[in-house]
Amino acid sequence: MKNRAGKSEYLRFVADVNSMALMIPGAALKLSGFGEQEQLEYRPLEDVIVVLKKHMTAPELLTAADQLHAVAVSLYNHLSKVCGPCEGCEDGEEGCPYDDLEDTNIGDLPPDLLDAFAEAGVCLGELEEHMILEDTVYGN
Ligand SMILES: [Zn+2]
Repeated sequence: MKNRAGKSEYLRFVADVNSMALMIPGAALKLSGFGEQEQLEYRPLEDVIVVLKKHMTAPELLTAADQLHAVAVSLYNHLSKVCGPCEGCEDGEEGCPYDDLEDTNIGDLPPDLLDAFAEAGVCLGELEEHMILEDTVYGN
């Protein structure tokens, strides 16, 4: 997946909320293909705000959906890297407490997502630790 700048790694801009408003730099708008007179729609969601063109063609809509999916995948990959691979966990002989997934319930994680992390070899013990501690796993 490549962005408009042709890079496989996504450009990131950092912004602070000032006076409860968010300014998006012109360079970022241009990279996203937003024209100067573009009407935008934003969707405040839990822990994320999505900004879309208010009017899109079918190809633009599909590209936007594809890009949102790619962002989700990159966030999952980031968390996988933070948790690291399961190497039997610290206690060695007994192995990872989450080797047997049947009774596993980690936070509010949907079972499909939990299975995906497990299949990727991510240490679910680490994942659970981060879910319980609610420590910062992104942007530090
Ligand atoms: Zn483990």
